[in-house]
This record gives sequence, C-alpha cells and structure tokens, in this order.
Amino acid sequence: MSVISCPECSKNISSRAVICNYCGFQLGEATEDDLRVFRARKLRDRIYRLNMTSYAVITVLIGGFCWYWWDSRGFTQMSSVGPLILMGVAAIAYLVVRALLFRSRQVQKSMRQASRLSDDLRRNL
Ligand SMILES: [Zn+2]
Repeated sequence: MSVISCPECSKNISSRAVICNYCGFQLGEATEDDLRVFRARKLRDRIYRLNMTSYAVITVLIGGFCWYWWDSRGFTQMSSVGPLILMGVAAIAYLVVRALLFRSRQVQKSMRQASRLSDDLRRNL
C-alpha cells in the first residue's frame, strides 16, 4: 500500500482507496456501500465538529456572563452593553449549533435504519 495524492483535493490518501476520504472524489469503481461508508464517516466528523463548536460557544457564554458580573460589580450596577451583546450572540450561536446537531443526528438515525433494512434484506435473500 502506498500513499498518493488525491487528484481533486491533493490530500494524501491510500493508493487502494476507491473514494477520497476528504472530498469524496471517486478514484475507482465505488460501490453503493463505499459511498454509504463515505457519507457516514463525513456525517460523524460533522457531528464531532458541531459538538466541539457547541462546547466553545458555551465557554464564550460563560465568559460573557463573568464579564457581565464583573462589569456590573456583582449585579449591583448597570452593566455596559458589551457583555450583553456577547451573551446574546453566543446564545444565538448555541441555538444554531444545536439545531444543526439535531438535524445531523436525524440524518444519522435514518442512515442507520436504512442500513439495518438492507441487512434484513440480505438475510432474507
Ligand atoms: Zn480528495
């Protein structure tokens, strides 16, 4: 097994790979299963990235809250508008990330159900 570079995205991939792991470029005869595995892997990566993003957004939200606490002298004075904007933006970003995560998980679930169905099919053939 040697390493070649993908003609599409020029990242290093195995010479035996039928589909580029990074961009999905087909180097050989890719079967429906190969494509399904590629899509499942992409989806898993996407869910992982979304999870990481949601943790980062929560950190920003907590940071904004600390800033608010510090700026309002422990909630005794009016805070400046900065921490409120930061918390607002982080809250919206969090909702967007959660919505994207929810949708990706729905897709993953339906893919799992589809593969279970084809296993059943295979067993019954
Ligand atoms: Zn590629």
